[in-house]
Amino acid sequence: AKSKGRNQFSFFEEAMQVEFLSNFHIENQLKEALKNKHFNLHYQPVMDPKTQQLTGVEALIRWEVDGVAISPDKFIPIAEKSRLILDIGQWVIEQAIKRLSDLNLNHSQSITMAINLSAVQLTNDSVIDVIHDCIKQYNVDANLIEFEITETALIVEPEKTVKIIQAISDLGCKISLDDFGTGFSSLSHLHSFPIDIVKIDKSLMPSYFSTEKVKKLLSGLIVMLKSLKLQIVAEGVETQDDLDLCINLGVDKVQGYFFDKALPVDVFERKYLQLNNK
Ligand code: C2E
Ligand code: CA
Ligand code: CA
Ligand code: CA
Repeated sequence: AKSKGRNQFSFFEEAMQVEFLSNFHIENQLKEALKNKHFNLHYQPVMDPKTQQLTGVEALIRWEVDGVAISPDKFIPIAEKSRLILDIGQWVIEQAIKRLSDLNLNHSQSITMAINLSAVQLTNDSVIDVIHDCIKQYNVDANLIEFEITETALIVEPEKTVKIIQAISDLGCKISLDDFGTGFSSLSHLHSFPIDIVKIDKSLMPSYFSTEKVKKLLSGLIVMLKSLKLQIVAEGVETQDDLDLCINLGVDKVQGYFFDKALPVDVFERKYLQLNNK
C-alpha cells in the first residue's frame, strides 16, 4: 500500500520539483549527481518478435533526487544546454560497454547493447576515443554495440556529425536511427549517413494510433526500409496487437512494455539471462 501511494504522488512531486528548481539548480544537481555517482542505467530487453527470445538491451539513464525519479526527457535537455551531457554521456558509454562485457560472460548467446547518443556528443571528436578505449578496455565485440542517434542530431552540424558517425561506424559499431517517423524525418538521412538500423517510433504502433492510415504508413515505411536492407526495430510494442502487426510486417526486433520496461540490472539478469553454470 505504501508503494502504491508513492506512485500516485510521485508525478506531482516530480512536477513540483521540476518547477521549483530553476535550470541553474538542476544543472548544479546534475554536476553533483555525476560526481557522486547518483545516475544509474536501466536495461530494456529487445526481443525477436517471432521467437520472443532476447536479442539485446537498450541502456536508459535514470536519476533520482531525494527518492524521486526525474525523467531523462526533462534533464537531458538541460544537460545538453550546459554541455554536461559530454561527461554524463561518457559515463553512460563506459557503464554500458562494461555491462555488455559482463552480460555476455553470463549468457549463452551474444546480446547487443544499444546506447543513446545526444546531438551534442556528435559534435565533439572526443566521443570517438571514448568509445574506442572502452571497446579495448572491456574487450567487447564492437559490432554488438549500437549507437542510437536522432534525426535532430543530424541537422545541427551535419558536416561534423557525419564524420563522427562514420568514425564510430569504422570502429565496427552499428548506427541506429532513433524515433523514426516523427519530427524531422527525412529520407535523405538514410543514404547520407551510415545507418544500419532504424527504430520506428512508438507513435506508429496500433496501440498508440490505430487508424488505417497509420497502418498503411507503417507498412509502406517498412517495405521501403527493407528494400534498403536496413534492420528494423519497433519500439513501444505494448499489446499483442502491436506484436502481431510487427510480425506480419517483418519487423526484425521489438521492444516495449508488452515484454518489459527498462529494468535495474539485477532484475534484468534474474529474469532474462540463463546463467552459465559456474
Ligand atoms: P528513447 O531513446 O526513444 O527511449 C525510449 C523511451 O520509451 C524510454 O523512455 C523507454 O522507457 C520508453 N518506453 C519503452 N517501452 C515503451 C512502451 O512500450 N511504451 C511507451 N509509451 N514507452 C516506452 P525513458 O527511459 O524515459 O527515456 C526517454 C528519452 O530520454 C529516451 O528516448 C532518450 O531520448 C533519452 N535518454 C534516455 N537515456 C539516455 C542516455 O543515456 N543518453 C541520452 N543522450 N539520452 C537518453
Ligand atoms: Ca533510444
Ligand atoms: Ca526512440
Ligand atoms: Ca525519444
